[in-house]
Amino acid sequence: MDIRLHAPFNRSVHEQATVPREEADERGDVPWHALESEAVLSNLDTSPDGLDSEEAAQRLDAYGPNILTEEDGISPLSLLVSQFTGPLILLLFVAAGLSLAVGVLPGREPGYTDAVLILLILLGNGLFGFIQDYRAEKALAALREMSTPDATVRRGGTVREISADEVVPGDIIILEAGDAVPADARILSAADCRADESTLTGESVPVGKGPDPVDSDAALADHRSVLHAGTTVVRGRAEAVVVATAMGTELGTIADQLGQARQRETPFEIEVDRLGRRIGIGIVALILVIAAIQLFVTATDPVTVLLVAVTLAVAAVPEGLPAVVTLTLALGSRTLLNRNALVRNLSVVESLGAVDFIVTDKTGTLTENRMTVTRAWLPDDRTVELDDDNGPELDPALSALLSCGTRCNDAKKLDDGSYRGDPTEVALVSVAAEFGVDDDDKDGGGTGDRLHEVSFTSERKRMTIVVDEFDAPGDGPFALMKGAPEVVLDRCDRVLVDGAIEPLGDELRQRIETTTSEFADDALRVLGFAYAPDADPNADESALESELVFLGLQGMTDPPRDGVAGAVTDCLNAGIHVTMATGDTPQTARAIATEVGIDASSVLTGTEVGGLSDAELHRAIEETRVFARVSPEHKVRILRALQDAGYTVAMTGDGVNDAPALGNADVGIAMGERGTQVAQGASDVVLRDDNFVTIRDAIAEGRGIFDNIRKFVNYLLSANTGEVLVVFLGTLLGALLFPEVFSASSALVITPVALLWINLVTDGFPALALGADPKSDDVMNRPPRPRHEGVLDRYTVASIIGIGVALTGTGLGVFFYALSESGDLVVAQTVLFTFLVTAELVRTQSVRLRYRLSPFSNPWLLGAVGLSLALHLMLLYTPVSTLFGVVPLGLEAWGWIAGAFVPFLVANLLLVWVNDRVFDS
Ligand code: ATP
Repeated sequence: MDIRLHAPFNRSVHEQATVPREEADERGDVPWHALESEAVLSNLDTSPDGLDSEEAAQRLDAYGPNILTEEDGISPLSLLVSQFTGPLILLLFVAAGLSLAVGVLPGREPGYTDAVLILLILLGNGLFGFIQDYRAEKALAALREMSTPDATVRRGGTVREISADEVVPGDIIILEAGDAVPADARILSAADCRADESTLTGESVPVGKGPDPVDSDAALADHRSVLHAGTTVVRGRAEAVVVATAMGTELGTIADQLGQARQRETPFEIEVDRLGRRIGIGIVALILVIAAIQLFVTATDPVTVLLVAVTLAVAAVPEGLPAVVTLTLALGSRTLLNRNALVRNLSVVESLGAVDFIVTDKTGTLTENRMTVTRAWLPDDRTVELDDDNGPELDPALSALLSCGTRCNDAKKLDDGSYRGDPTEVALVSVAAEFGVDDDDKDGGGTGDRLHEVSFTSERKRMTIVVDEFDAPGDGPFALMKGAPEVVLDRCDRVLVDGAIEPLGDELRQRIETTTSEFADDALRVLGFAYAPDADPNADESALESELVFLGLQGMTDPPRDGVAGAVTDCLNAGIHVTMATGDTPQTARAIATEVGIDASSVLTGTEVGGLSDAELHRAIEETRVFARVSPEHKVRILRALQDAGYTVAMTGDGVNDAPALGNADVGIAMGERGTQVAQGASDVVLRDDNFVTIRDAIAEGRGIFDNIRKFVNYLLSANTGEVLVVFLGTLLGALLFPEVFSASSALVITPVALLWINLVTDGFPALALGADPKSDDVMNRPPRPRHEGVLDRYTVASIIGIGVALTGTGLGVFFYALSESGDLVVAQTVLFTFLVTAELVRTQSVRLRYRLSPFSNPWLLGAVGLSLALHLMLLYTPVSTLFGVVPLGLEAWGWIAGAFVPFLVANLLLVWVNDRVFDS
């Protein structure tokens, strides 16, 4: 793939970002990857100190934000209009129009009131749907906003973090391993820098990057001096000047093919959508039967038949259900954010509730990631306590050890004297500083004295630099290495003892290994240090990192975080397995695992995992809860084995190479504080506080949100089933039992406007309030939901059918009783109407019985029920009743309704009792 990056620097910066590449090609302008960096800087009117804030703001105005395409946020107006354009709603408008139109026929009254009421109720319903959709959109937009990555830039000489969408051409960006490149940029300086450009080139092997310009005709893969938006730095560091942002970038030109990363529909939304459609078809079939009966048996007039049919469709087809699911998920993700879990992908809210295996790393998630070097070991076989007030005197051996730790180190000293960087490295710099061993180059974040460096990666487990001077025997240049003790030791053949370099014998090697184990048994994280005189900065990695001189060990504490032990216990009680997979040694891993309550009776190392067959690994994952010295590829294998065994796995990660594990986990969890942007980009959830406790909380919330979705799906569908069955059977039975009433007068058990009203007052606020129900107390005391169990489990289906039937039986019972007692159809209709409204309101509580929630635990729900009831009473006892064709009910009628409640409530309780025993035992 040969992508040319041409930018005409002889013109203004603004033009340069907007001139199409083809045009630049034709004119033969020099591509910027072929220019010297000074030329690039001057063409962009910037300097290595970066733009000042004012200039940056002006450029942001000129170019617009650094985002690929403008978020096509849905306008409120189109959202509002969409509420009234569904086919069913349009059909209802037609029906209402018809009921008006028939008024022109001789001898017919136009149905003004019906038409107006239908319009008003539809308006209410539409507004309600609008509020719902609008809030969901807002919540989703806020989440998208939160997910925008940061970029580190130098502006006016100071380094600062800004949102990646504020990056402008001319900005100096600073990139480290794990950072996403925010815009197309020309490299000014780089150290051991490699970028993963697979998003652009498809080539998965990272490409080496450096500041030297290259041949203008080179292919993209050879653009050594260029970093492209959308790619990631996977190793080393680089500083670069931004030459193009947004759609002006290489990624921008292919963005159309890639498409915007939009929120996909979640499996729930798909399930509920499909369900809604199926139910819709079933209901339409029933409606046709009802219509046939009305037309041919009860001789109802065709316009009324049409109105009943369409109203029933509007009232009973759960059209709004997917919207409520989306809203509940979106609001749920807001609750999760309050708990420090940022949801990047809505569907994960549902998966969270089904998680039954957590694979977590140790450093920072289970531990505080606040490291302090407390102990050191020196090759004259001295163990020294460094955090003691009466600590050791600084001697040349200790000085060389501490100096190696602070110089082979990327932590930066800030203006206030504190350090920024990887906590392991900060601990090494801090302890050295306490002993007066400073690396002057740390000021201002400099690494200026380095001749060469090979960076740390989780796989390498070591870092090496080459410097001119080092206070130890031998001539420069010197190589300095720090890393995992066994890795460093493997590369040493000599040792520095009492100021002299000696061969490293087996006995001392053995002693170093034992000391490492002893340190690790005390839960210390241990690093080894070594150096080599006469190092060749141009030597390849393996030559440079061999035949070193061992300097000693440093051990650091990293205590478990508060609350982690409790959170692990909670997870275990909730049927969730907790496994630690760490890059640290087996001993340290075991010690920390034991402290936080993870079963450390069996520990496997990454090397051992690598040697297991798939079958053996399947057995191992069931028994082993601690994996040590694992690298990201081992994590992927462990993940696969767990998923093959049917587990729903949440896996944490923070490194560059954790992206595959995070992307494939059912719930990929990245760290917000310490995680790389690459890891965050591949994750479903970002923990803003990196804390394991937050994982427990997020799972509990996920389970709660799932319960709520199930509750209102159950509530709405059982009510709708009841309504359709009431009209269907009511029409049939009416014709059979009371032919004189039903055949003669186009009689209905319930009028279309009443049905619409029920829909408005019961499906509206009460259903929504159910979505805001609190979690039940036992949410973490029950086993996880099986992986493939959707919203409609057998319990819920049984409940929907059972309640639908109970509502129909008791409703029609009280209707026909009222009809026979009063002999007045309107009274009977009002009784049924009122019974359905009140029964559905009572149902908001009975649907919560499964979760043992107190009736008073959700004030929103009580308020919504109270409001609906008040509205209904107003309808009955004010002149509005005549509009609805109902009558104010007397005490006797209320007595009938109360009577109907007895069997209805018994049915509710019985159903919960049976379901609990049959399906939830
Ligand atoms: P976890 O996977 O739980 O975060 P970890 O931090 O120990 O644990 P890695 O970051 O993969 O895992 O580190 C592996 C090992 O490499 C560490 O145990 C340590 O010995 C060594 N190490 C860690 N950080 C550095 C560093 N900055 N320079 C050199 N060696 C390091």
